[in-house]
Amino acid sequence: MRVTVSAIKADVGGVGGHTKPSDGLLDAVRNTIESAKDMLIDYYIGYCGDDVHILMTHTRGTDDSKIHKLAWSAFEEGTRVAKEEGLYGAGQDLLKDSFSGNVKGMGPGVAEMEFEERANEAFVVFAADKTEPGAFNYPFYRLFVDALSNTGLIVNESLARGVIFNIMDVEEGKIARLTLWEDKPTVEAALMYPGRYVVSSIETRDGEPIVAASTDRLHNIAGTYVGKDDPICVIRTQKNFPATEEAGSVFNNPHYVAGNTRGSHNMPLMPVRLNSAATINFCIPIVESLVFSMHGGKLTGPFDGFSTPDWDHIREIATKKALAMRSQGFLHPATLVPDELEYAQGYRARMDMLKEKMKPVEDASAGQKRGSYEDPD
Ligand SMILES: [Mg+2]
Repeated sequence: MRVTVSAIKADVGGVGGHTKPSDGLLDAVRNTIESAKDMLIDYYIGYCGDDVHILMTHTRGTDDSKIHKLAWSAFEEGTRVAKEEGLYGAGQDLLKDSFSGNVKGMGPGVAEMEFEERANEAFVVFAADKTEPGAFNYPFYRLFVDALSNTGLIVNESLARGVIFNIMDVEEGKIARLTLWEDKPTVEAALMYPGRYVVSSIETRDGEPIVAASTDRLHNIAGTYVGKDDPICVIRTQKNFPATEEAGSVFNNPHYVAGNTRGSHNMPLMPVRLNSAATINFCIPIVESLVFSMHGGKLTGPFDGFSTPDWDHIREIATKKALAMRSQGFLHPATLVPDELEYAQGYRARMDMLKEKMKPVEDASAGQKRGSYEDPD
């Protein structure tokens, strides 16, 4: 049976800031999906920080306008409640006034794939908040390229042959298809700068889909920066794909990612439990792990992948790394480069003032001399 898994997410409002959706907002989203459930085989709704994710299984294929319209309508209903409740950033990820066939390019993030369901289909959804799509570059690298992180790359026949990375240049809107192992250094060069090059999907060399990730870049869609485009991805696991525990373990070294407070800082990506709020400790970036089994499109789960005791230790490491970076305050690399700052306008205003005060070095040093050696009175 061919099944499509569609994970669509958006931030349409948070309680008292960029924290988490309200119960009313979530109910509105859930009621909308529930009212159209005939179109679906199954669904699950949850949130990561202020982002609500809708996971749907169906047989309509990827980029289906009815499925996308359903998600759009659910987020519109969530926005309506968010406005009623005065939630912060109500409707912030709905960038267009009306739906036009596909939510891609309209604000919400989409990760979806269609495949022939295996007898024991297993997959994990990783949903993140307070960061950007490139946040998955490092875990994907560990999972599919780095045997030191994943022994499966040696002992699993399918993974040992290498996989195909489809990597998007989010500035140019182009995708490069790179095949391991021959393109390894090129894959590495691309993954090096997660702000620009982002993994959009990964497949086996036989073309079986393994990973689908959201790659929407909000500030390019809207023309101006409107918020970090928090990513979501689906990774199929077991058999010819990575083991579930391999997919989870690549998040056990909280790496620095862009985002956090004002979308303008670098902080470590902290694995958290399902339906966690974003912390008001400077918005440390977070990632959740939703582990599912599926049969006939029916979902069992999610099991909370980052709920076991070992992840408390990882959270502590992430917190320590976050505090270490914050101890550096506003100085880069604690802050992002100017082009990536969410509040670039404010920064530019400061820089304009600085430029006004700038004088050629010779004049400036002449001024210094006068100040040093001549008494103005
Ligand atoms: Mg968010």
